[in-house]
Amino acid sequence: MIIIIRADAQAEKRAELTDWVRGLGLDVHLSEGADTTVMGLVGDTSRVDIDILKALDIVKDVLRVSEPYKKANRKFHPADSVVGAGGCLAGGGKFALIAGPCSVESEAQIVSVAKKVKAAGAGLLRGGAYKPRSSPYAFQGLKEEGLRLLLLAKKETGLPVVSEITAVTQLPLFGGVDIIQVGARNMQNFELLKELGRTDKPILLKRGLSSTLEELLMSAEYIMAGGNERIILCERGIRTFEPATRNTLDISAVPWLKERTHLPVIVDPSHASGISRLVPPLSLAAAAAGADGLIIEVHEDPARALCDGPQCIKPDELLELVAKLDTVLTLTGKARA
Ligand code: PEP
Ligand code: MN
Repeated sequence: MIIIIRADAQAEKRAELTDWVRGLGLDVHLSEGADTTVMGLVGDTSRVDIDILKALDIVKDVLRVSEPYKKANRKFHPADSVVGAGGCLAGGGKFALIAGPCSVESEAQIVSVAKKVKAAGAGLLRGGAYKPRSSPYAFQGLKEEGLRLLLLAKKETGLPVVSEITAVTQLPLFGGVDIIQVGARNMQNFELLKELGRTDKPILLKRGLSSTLEELLMSAEYIMAGGNERIILCERGIRTFEPATRNTLDISAVPWLKERTHLPVIVDPSHASGISRLVPPLSLAAAAAGADGLIIEVHEDPARALCDGPQCIKPDELLELVAKLDTVLTLTGKARA
C-alpha cells in the first residue's frame, strides 16, 4: 500500500502518521519527491482502514500495490534510483559502462586490460575471481588471489571494480570490491541475497537463465528487505529454444523493468549472445531501449582467454563502440557517467 502525502503537510503530522503505521507492525518506506512524498507500507496491510487514512488532511491519496515487489516498485519510489561506485553511475540519466575480462587471469592481464578499457571510456572494471562454470573441470577462477589482482588493477587505474560472489562465506573477502555481482546462477540463492541485504555494498543482480522478470524483481526485493537498496538489475539473456546464440537477449525486459521499478537496469550483451561480433549491435540496441548501462567482456587476446573468449571484444572494438554508443545516448537523454 502507498500513501501519497500532500506537499504542504506539516512535519509533525507526517511523523504522527508514520508512528501510527509502525504501531500496526508495518514497515514504512519514505520517498521524498520534489512535489509529493510517497509513504510505502510493507507488511500485512489488510488491517489498515483506507477510509481513515484518506480522511486525514495531509493525505492526498491511498493506493493498494498489487505487485508482490514493494520496495523495488516504482510506485513506492517514483524517481529513478541512481546506483554505482566511484562516479560511475547507473540511473537518473546516468549511463554506466562496465568492461573487463570474464575472469582475472594474471596481474599482467588484468592491469593491462584495465588501462585499455579505461582509455576506451569504461567507468568500472569487471573481473571474475570466483567463476561458476558448467563443468567442474573448467577454469574456476583465481579466487582470493584473483580478488587481490583485481584490487591491484583498481589501484593502478583508479577504476572501481565489480566481481561475482558465489557463496556467502566469500563475503569477508569482498571488502575492497566496489560492487558485488550476483550471477545468473545465484539469482535465487535466497540465503546469499539475504546476507547481501545486510551489507552496504551496491549489488549487480543478474537475471537467472530461466527467470521471469517478476522473479528478478523479487530477488531484488530480498536484498532490499534486508536494508540494502543499492541494486543494479542486469538483463543478460535467457534460455530459449534458439540455439544460434548462447542465450536470447530479452530486449523488452529493459523498458518493461524501467516502467515497474526505480532500480537501474543494465544489459550484458556478451553473455546474452556468446558471440563477440554481436556485442556492438546488441549494446546499441540496449542503449536505444533505455538501458542505464552495459557490462561488456573485453580481452586483449580473446583466443587465449581462460573463460568466455568467443564473446570477448578487444579494447579497440570497445573504443569504436563507445563512439556510436554516445550518439545513441544523446537520443535517449542519457550520458556516460
Ligand atoms: C559473468 O558475468 O561472468 C557471468 C558468469 O555472468 P552470468 O551470471 O550472467 O552468466
Ligand atoms: Mn563470462
